[in-house]
Amino acid sequence: MNSTPAPRPVTRRQFLGRVSAASALALAPRSLFAQAAAGRKLGVALVGLGGYSTGQLGPALRLTSHCQLTGVVTGSVEKGKKWAADYGFPETSIYDYSTMARLADNPAIDIVYVVTPNGLHAEHAIAAAQAGKHVICEKPMANTVADCDAIIAACQKAGVRLGIGYRLHYDPTHAELRRLARTQEFGPFLKMDGGFGFTMGRSQWRAQKKLAGGGPLMDLGVYVLQEALMASGEVPPVALTARELPKLRPEFFVDVEETIEWTLEFANGARATGWTSYNANRNDFRAEAKDGWYEISSAYGYKGQKAVTSRGPVTVTPPASQQALQMDAFARDVLDGTPSLVPGEMGRRDMVMVEAIYASAAAGGKRVELKF
Ligand code: NAD
Repeated sequence: MNSTPAPRPVTRRQFLGRVSAASALALAPRSLFAQAAAGRKLGVALVGLGGYSTGQLGPALRLTSHCQLTGVVTGSVEKGKKWAADYGFPETSIYDYSTMARLADNPAIDIVYVVTPNGLHAEHAIAAAQAGKHVICEKPMANTVADCDAIIAACQKAGVRLGIGYRLHYDPTHAELRRLARTQEFGPFLKMDGGFGFTMGRSQWRAQKKLAGGGPLMDLGVYVLQEALMASGEVPPVALTARELPKLRPEFFVDVEETIEWTLEFANGARATGWTSYNANRNDFRAEAKDGWYEISSAYGYKGQKAVTSRGPVTVTPPASQQALQMDAFARDVLDGTPSLVPGEMGRRDMVMVEAIYASAAAGGKRVELKF
């Protein structure tokens, strides 16, 4: 272990390409500051009223202080009417996917939150930006890096903010681990191993390449990649190798992987191994540094994180809703002109790794150098 070269200093900026506070401030229209001062909550429209919107984001928007649900984009008028009645916004704020341009005429909607299948994120995020709305895009950001670039370009062109739905950045347990990693409280990062998987029980878009972009790597593996980057203090890996495991249900996972594993290599010699599957359960990671370690189980869920470090358990008060904290933070960033913890560049970064994992696995585990 002593032979491990010292890591480069933590340089989040180098990697995230975050909008500087000054330029972010310039993006916030003057009227937003007046609205913040007056205590108006920013209006959010959810695009796609499926499981995540219904079970998590809608309820979370009842708990937020700086934003509230003021519209929806849905393929079902009936569903839209029910949401309007439940959440108290006018039926004129119900849109369908082909009428998103009309969002431009609705001053009650400031933020559009894209919660559709991955392969539709780019189309819907770009439509929202072109309507002049700030955009939150669910993870994974898009099916390809090229689509991520198109979303970022559309938001820049429209002068709107862009954030990714990386809710764990706002979870207090993860925030504490992130702090420990960033400040190198246990010394230089050496290795990490993590996995996230469950058994997918029914056929759905998540097993279709066109809509999902891939299999569990797109859906679950991105969380494990996020934790590896957390452990490295957001210093990017330089290369990776990957291997797809044989399918147990090939008839179900026709054009996407069922299980895949990878190893990230960092410039300082550190390694991060990851695993994800739609056919087995796992939900954890462990990171080791020179002078200590930390690990977490129930790592990636909406609640129930259990973290322990070499110094003892991490005790934090669990939040009522990670999603409420995440959306409030985005609203505050819009209002205050502060940079996001989870900018579009971070979503794009993760897709660079995802594409490289698929490329390595397709090439029989060949080492792929990473260019971000
Ligand atoms: P879902 O299948 O439950 O809902 C998808 C919604 O998109 C449905 O309302 C569906 O009608 C709509 N839709 C529009 N066009 C569609 C089309 N062509 N095919 C299929 N559906 C279409 O999915 P979900 O679980 O709500 O996931 C949506 C997004 O949210 C995904 O990108 C997913 O990765 C993300 N998500 C994030 C988290 C998180 O914790 N951050 C959790 C769950 C899902």
